Amino acid sequence: MLFLGSAAELAAIDVKGVYYIPVSKIARRFGMKYKTTIPKKRQQIYSSNFSMTFDVHRRDMDLNGVKVWLGDPVVEMGGLLYVSSRDIEKTITPIVFPKVSNVPPPLRHIMIDPGHGGKDKGAISKTFGVFEKNLTLDISSRIAAYLRKMGFKVSLTRYKDVFLELPERPAKANKVNADLFLSIHINAAGPSASGVETYSLTPKGQNSTNASTMSVKDKRNFNGEIQNSWNTLLSYYIQSELKEAASSSDRGSKRARFAVLQDGKMPAALVECGFISNNAEARKLCSASYRDSLAKAIANGIFRYSKTLKRLNNQKP
Ligand SMILES: [Zn+2]
Repeated sequence: MLFLGSAAELAAIDVKGVYYIPVSKIARRFGMKYKTTIPKKRQQIYSSNFSMTFDVHRRDMDLNGVKVWLGDPVVEMGGLLYVSSRDIEKTITPIVFPKVSNVPPPLRHIMIDPGHGGKDKGAISKTFGVFEKNLTLDISSRIAAYLRKMGFKVSLTRYKDVFLELPERPAKANKVNADLFLSIHINAAGPSASGVETYSLTPKGQNSTNASTMSVKDKRNFNGEIQNSWNTLLSYYIQSELKEAASSSDRGSKRARFAVLQDGKMPAALVECGFISNNAEARKLCSASYRDSLAKAIANGIFRYSKTLKRLNNQKP
């Protein structure tokens, strides 16, 4: 609330113990404009650089053409839409105004974590005879190659088809003091589900994207939360690049408390590169050139993140 101002100044309302702020006040505090696109249903905040669209009752918003998941649904009162102050603080501000976040972290050494391995095959496509563990290792190796060309030092949690327990993965990143941790996965669900999504750790006290009710985990402290503002920005940039490359649906920049995101000391994200359970997407994932384009997009997302860190470092007094 330090950045936004007091609850009274912002005409905040309390919805079941959560503070909500009207879109008009958020726009003013951001130095932006706002407009009502559909009365009582949709409002937008915009400037020359940003466009944010909020829909009533929804937890997903559009931020410059990328789907971003909030922790709390947008609400309407008296014709105005309201967004929770913790979503403004934890999710929107880190993307739109990263300079109000903490001191930018260094970014030299990147740890990439190819999901699954060895006895743990991950998701399987029977139609194409492929395992998630092999696709994640291939995509991770390609991301590593692109990042090395960009000048980063890159390590992988595994270079071969070997099994690793989940806690070993962030532990490897912590051990070498890596500056960023990125876990690569392939999704599976019903045959019609498709698209790409990028996760960062859910902030304490909020629901993960795929949960609608609070759980015990929502109240626990995880070390990874210290990096929330950078986790959020990293996830957004990766998703923004990936959804363009994937020619598939944008499932958004999401939140989850995955084991590999909980305890790393550095900013972290987990990417789901498409659904192996969807035959059209599995066919694409079997193509080396498609996997390469996904890898390039993910590396470009990290490059964008590094450019922002550099810009913020240069702005320091
Ligand atoms: Zn997986």
